[in-house]
Amino acid sequence: MRLGFELKGKRVLVVGLARTGIATAQFCAHLGAIVTATDELPEERLGAAAQTLRADGIALQLGGHRPEIFENQDLIILSPGVPAKLPPLEAVRLRGIPVWSEIELASRFLRGRLIAITGSNGKTTTTALVAHILKTANIPTLVGGNIGVPLISLVDSSSDSTVSVVEASSFQLETIVEFRPEIAVMLNLTPDHLDRHTSFEEYVRAKMRIFENQHEDDDAILNADDPEVAKRFPARPQVHWFSRQKRVASGAYVRDRLIVVRTEGAEEPIMQRDEIPLRGDHNLENVLAACLAARLASAHPSAIAEGVKTFPGVEHRIEFVAEINGVKFYNDSKATNVDATLKAITAFASPLIVILGGKDKGSSYAPLADPLRKNARLVLLIGTATEKISAELSGAFPITNAGTMDRAVDLAFERAQPGDTILLAPACASFDQFENFEHRGRVFKELVARLVEKNKAQAPPNAAKRSA
Ligand code: ADP
Repeated sequence: MRLGFELKGKRVLVVGLARTGIATAQFCAHLGAIVTATDELPEERLGAAAQTLRADGIALQLGGHRPEIFENQDLIILSPGVPAKLPPLEAVRLRGIPVWSEIELASRFLRGRLIAITGSNGKTTTTALVAHILKTANIPTLVGGNIGVPLISLVDSSSDSTVSVVEASSFQLETIVEFRPEIAVMLNLTPDHLDRHTSFEEYVRAKMRIFENQHEDDDAILNADDPEVAKRFPARPQVHWFSRQKRVASGAYVRDRLIVVRTEGAEEPIMQRDEIPLRGDHNLENVLAACLAARLASAHPSAIAEGVKTFPGVEHRIEFVAEINGVKFYNDSKATNVDATLKAITAFASPLIVILGGKDKGSSYAPLADPLRKNARLVLLIGTATEKISAELSGAFPITNAGTMDRAVDLAFERAQPGDTILLAPACASFDQFENFEHRGRVFKELVARLVEKNKAQAPPNAAKRSA
């Protein structure tokens, strides 16, 4: 155990009862705390969780957060989706009651080393990649945090020899106290979630807290190519850089198309850049950061190369779906903003048919005009943002309003020629037509799977697409 915290007999309030809140409430109850859990949702929306929590002796306050339950607590733990600025918390803080994110609590109980990864984009991909590399290197590895597995749920499996790889969001970092990763990674800093942080500076401050408790012999990994990151490096830990544009004194970079890591003077070759199975320059950055983190965690260079080469990628992030008669389908449903879509479009050299749209998030789509003019044969629009997108982009290339995903997939395949790529990279949120981006990606993949079946049934072996 790292710092620990005496939970026995303490009054603990857990705010937010999705997966992380439920796991946290149970963890505290099992260690003897007197736990209350609260959520805005009414009991009927929580499903079976309410019964399970009550069976563990946890008191529930559902359908809203009554201010009085925040009083008389010894500790308040926030789930990742709960704003640190929730009004009742202000008063509680003034009275000195600690308010922690779940990663603060979990990190006090986790055994072994911690690698934490943050940034505006690429967190999930890099976290999954680092974990995959470490497993390939036979290092006992756990993975959790913002990646869908609550960090607290890893505590029981952790030991002094495990490495826990943690995806940390700005919201989680905003309410840490002693959280201290031995290796901390800052991938990039671009304006995001300004709806929740009042300014870019505040958002950056929250993210930079990842380095705050590091010791002199801990490692900080930062993106040398990102001007916002490069001007803000921390003073205490050992600082290493990754760059796809230049050589760095200590870190990871590309030399003559070879990826190298240099941590103690000498360069260690890892692999050829062309052997990376992930598309796009942004993924080269993720790979450089991951190679460096893994090397600092003592993975051997050959195991790192093997890990990168065998990384299957993460679902919904430029994910290859299928190829039908020379037409490839890719799912980048996680491209929920213009910048991520831009990265996806520029990751392909082949002619594209791009499916764009969904629920508008307020940004301009104009930055997509140039890359689409260069690469796209056709743009198909879906969802409620259709009017705005066509107003901002029309004229530069053919745009068709498809309305729904099923029509978009059919139209895309009808119009595609062998050698083309059909790319779902919506640049929008999904909530107008889907539950979330995962649902949108799954629907896309099911529609493509149906096309695969239909084409198997219709086409004789090796038939050209046009004759099918
Ligand atoms: P996060 O967990 O930070 O949201 P993901 O790995 O889930 O990041 O990727 C989200 C989207 O951002 C993907 O659709 C991808 O196209 C884009 N992306 C991934 N890595 C980077 C990066 N290093 N820089 C910029 N964009 C990226």
